[in-house]
Amino acid sequence: MMQRGIAILGSTGSIGTATLRVVARHTDRFRVAALTAFGNAALLHSQSDATRPGYVGIVNPAADVSAAWGTGPECLVEAATRPDVDIVVNAVVGAAGLRATLAALRAGKRVALANKESLVMGGDFVLRACAEGGGEIVPVDSEHSAVLQCINGRSHSDISRVILTASGGPFRDWDPERIAQATVAEALNHPTWRMGRKISVDSATLANKALEVIEAHYLFGLSYDQIDVVVHPQSVVHSFVEFVDGSVLAQVGFPNMELPILYALTHPERSPDASARRFDPTAASPLTFERAALDRFPALGLGLEAGRAGGCAPVVFNAANEAAVRLFLAGTIRFGDIPRAIGSALAASTSVAPSSVDDLFACDQAARAHVHSLFH
Ligand code: NAD
Ligand code: MG
Repeated sequence: MMQRGIAILGSTGSIGTATLRVVARHTDRFRVAALTAFGNAALLHSQSDATRPGYVGIVNPAADVSAAWGTGPECLVEAATRPDVDIVVNAVVGAAGLRATLAALRAGKRVALANKESLVMGGDFVLRACAEGGGEIVPVDSEHSAVLQCINGRSHSDISRVILTASGGPFRDWDPERIAQATVAEALNHPTWRMGRKISVDSATLANKALEVIEAHYLFGLSYDQIDVVVHPQSVVHSFVEFVDGSVLAQVGFPNMELPILYALTHPERSPDASARRFDPTAASPLTFERAALDRFPALGLGLEAGRAGGCAPVVFNAANEAAVRLFLAGTIRFGDIPRAIGSALAASTSVAPSSVDDLFACDQAARAHVHSLFH
């Protein structure tokens, strides 16, 4: 079998390093063709020495950068569109991942998409690039991988609803006053997953689940009425798909991102892999489900409304959230300020639908500026 070339954008992050572990176990099928990172040159050097890719790029070149490396934000698009790349794993965090998603799809690549912000910010543009370029989007997000695995080739008209599961995050049973004062360390202490800092905070506010509902809307062509959310603290059921006859399928397993990453590379095939902890229903027991508390986690409701509103609202939601999370992680604002900032940015934004990718970034920048103006 021919090895497929993989570009890993964001190779130094949580998903990026997990992808390298997956690829290292499957060198018969895959080889690393390109790597990019934001600024961790030391880790990028060791990854590059281990995998010998044809291209390495670093966005922010400080000391210790190899002269052969591509530099600057353009390195993402360069890595994503190389002829020896078949699959682009977009594991960049935030809006910074959008242009590479678009370029890869236009170049006809498969995009194994962890960067859900690409779809939230530019869903219509991403789908158009995919159709025009002959590319393909396969989700890495565990919930969406679960939905894809349950749908497994069945016709779209057979699906009546998906139910995305959410862990509920570290503050699931906290009272509102305590949530509002939560520290950075508390927000990063996710009960079931070890992830990058931004998505960990998003999981604590439940903004992550709103991003995922919008992601599902675009990935699976479902209306917002067809997408529900349920809190499931054990993170064992990765999501449900309900079919028109009332039958419901779920994909289950102990939480481990290496499985959805591998599936995004091999879909619709499967590849033998013994890394995941073997499933044991009695060890997973009990599995519990509860409604999401929209009153205590207002970022979720704001994101769902933004998704339904469409136009620039999802762009504003995503950008305001990114800006507020950054300020929270820097110790500048309180946890409770994150949903306040998002709500304020959405209220201040216009409803003009973006007609170009440049419009998306203009809208993104305005929302970030609005959030910064609230705290100065
Ligand atoms: P992370 O912070 O651990 O890693 C982010 C990576 O992106 C790093 O390699 C970093 O160098 C790079 N990066 C950061 N800013 C950049 C920029 N401006 N330009 C180019 N590269 C940049 O994040 P993560 O947890 O791996 O998450 C990555 C993406 O995957 C996010 O969209 C997240 O929502 C999604 N995701 C993550 C998980 C998980 O388990 N970590 C699960 C599902 C989805
Ligand atoms: Mg997820």
